[in-house]
Amino acid sequence: LIPFPSEIFLPGRRNSIGHDLNDPIALSAIHAGRGQFSDKNRWTAGVAGRERPIVNPAKPDDVVGTVREADAEAVKAAIGRAVGVFPAWAATPVAERSAALLRAANLYEAHEAEFLALCAREAGKTLADGVAELREAVDFLRYYAAEAAKAEVGTAARGVIACISPWNFPLAIFTGQVAAALVTGNAVIAKPAEQTPLIAARAVELLHQAGVPEDALQLLPGDGPSVGAPLTADPRIAGVCFTGSTDVARIIERQLAETAAPDAMLIAETGGLNAMVVDSTALPEQAVRDILASAFQSAGQRCSALRILYVQSDVEDKVLEMLTGAMKALVVGDPWLYPTDVGPVIDAEARDKISAYCKAMEAKGRLVAKLEAPGEGLFVAPHIFRVDGIAEMEREVFGPVLHVATFEPEELDLVVANINAKGYGLTFGLHTRIEARVQRVIDRIHAGNVYVNRNQIGAVVGSQPFGGEGLSGTGPKAGGPHYLRRFRSSAVATGDV
Ligand code: GLU
Repeated sequence: LIPFPSEIFLPGRRNSIGHDLNDPIALSAIHAGRGQFSDKNRWTAGVAGRERPIVNPAKPDDVVGTVREADAEAVKAAIGRAVGVFPAWAATPVAERSAALLRAANLYEAHEAEFLALCAREAGKTLADGVAELREAVDFLRYYAAEAAKAEVGTAARGVIACISPWNFPLAIFTGQVAAALVTGNAVIAKPAEQTPLIAARAVELLHQAGVPEDALQLLPGDGPSVGAPLTADPRIAGVCFTGSTDVARIIERQLAETAAPDAMLIAETGGLNAMVVDSTALPEQAVRDILASAFQSAGQRCSALRILYVQSDVEDKVLEMLTGAMKALVVGDPWLYPTDVGPVIDAEARDKISAYCKAMEAKGRLVAKLEAPGEGLFVAPHIFRVDGIAEMEREVFGPVLHVATFEPEELDLVVANINAKGYGLTFGLHTRIEARVQRVIDRIHAGNVYVNRNQIGAVVGSQPFGGEGLSGTGPKAGGPHYLRRFRSSAVATGDV
C-alpha cells in the first residue's frame, strides 16, 4: 500500500499557494488535481432530484457535500439504459472487462488521499479504517479481475443487476459488489447507502474513467423507499446483490419472488450476533487486544464485529481487569486525527438508538465499564455490559457495545449450541491453546468465518472469503472463488448472451 501522504501529520504546514495541508479537502484536491477549492471544498453526487447536504458525523458544522437523490422515474429510465447497453457489455471480451477493473484499481490508489478524506468526513472512519477500506476495495478490483475468466466457462451474463450497498464499507463493499457484477458482463444500477453517496460517486467516476461504459454502471443515490424499492420491484432486474440488515434482505427476497423473473438471483450479506469464546488456556494479553479490535474498531459498526464475549469463569477477573484497563486507553474522537481509535457512529438515528440501549442496560445494573463520548458530534463511547448469555440478546446493537458472559469448562458445547440457536452465523472467535478444543468447536459452530487466536474482523479478500449462513446471509462469500459464478447463469445452451 502506498503510505498516506506525510503532510497529513505535519501541523500548520501550508503549501506554496496557501492551502492548509492539514485540511483533508485541500490535500485531496492537491492530490486529485481537481479544482475542488472553487466549489467550497465540496463533492456532489447524483444528477437530478431532491438535494440534500451530507454532514460529517463527527462535526455538525462540516458540510461535506451535496447529494441529489433519484426517484422512481429516474430508476425506470436508468434500467432502460442498462437494458440497452447490456448486450454490448456482455459481448465485450472478459479480458477487456478485467482490464477496466485493473485500471480502476490503479486510479483508486492514485486518489488515496481523497478517499481517506471522504471515508473520514462522510462515513466517520478513522485513518486506519480508511486505509484498510481503500486496500479492500482495490483488492476486490484486482481479485475479481483475475478470477473473471474462470467464471465464464459454460455460463452467460445475467442482465441488469441492482447493487445495494451499506454505509459501513462505503467504498470496499460498494466496489466489491459492482466490480463482481460488471466483470461478469452484467450492467449495474448501484444504490449506495443514503448516508454515503459521495464516496460512491467518486468511485463511479473513476470506474467510468477506467473504461466502464456510463450506461453499464449507473449510480442512483437515494433511500430505500424511493430508490431501492422501485429498483428491486422492476421485472427487468435480473438479480440483486445486497449488503445490509436481515430485515431489508427479507423485503427484497419477497419483492423478487413477486415480480422478478423466476431465475433472478439474490446475494444477501446481512447481520450477525457474533460471539468469541476465551478459555483459561488463552493468552490474556493477546485475547484482550483481539477483543478490543473486534468489538470497538470502526466503532463496532461492522457486521463481523464481536457482540458477546464468553470468558471462562476462572479467568474472568483477570481478563476483565485487563480489558477494561485497555479500553480506557482508547481515544474516542475526530476520525481524521491520527491518534483516534474510535470515531463517531454514522447518524443521529444510530446514536440515539445505541445510546438508549446503553442507558437501559445501565439502569438494569449491567454496566461493567464505559468511556465518555465527546460532547459534540454523533459519538457513542465504548460500553461493556454483563449478560448471562446470548439467549437474552434480541439482536445486534450496531455500535461499540460489548456484552460479557462467563462459562464453566464443561459448558462449552452448550455455549456453542446457544450461539447457534440464535439463527445467525457470521463470525465467531475462539481463543484457546487446546488443539482438540479448536476442532471440537469448529465442528459444531455455525458461522461463515471462524477465527482462532486472533481478532474476528477485517477478512482479507482472496484469502479469507467473507460471508455468513442462516440469518446472516445467502452466500456465496465475497472475495472468494465461488462469488463470481453467481453473477452468471448457466443458460449458455439456450443461446442467450
Ligand atoms: N468484511 C468485513 C470484515 O471482515 C465486514 C463486512 C461488514 O461489516 O459488512 O470485518
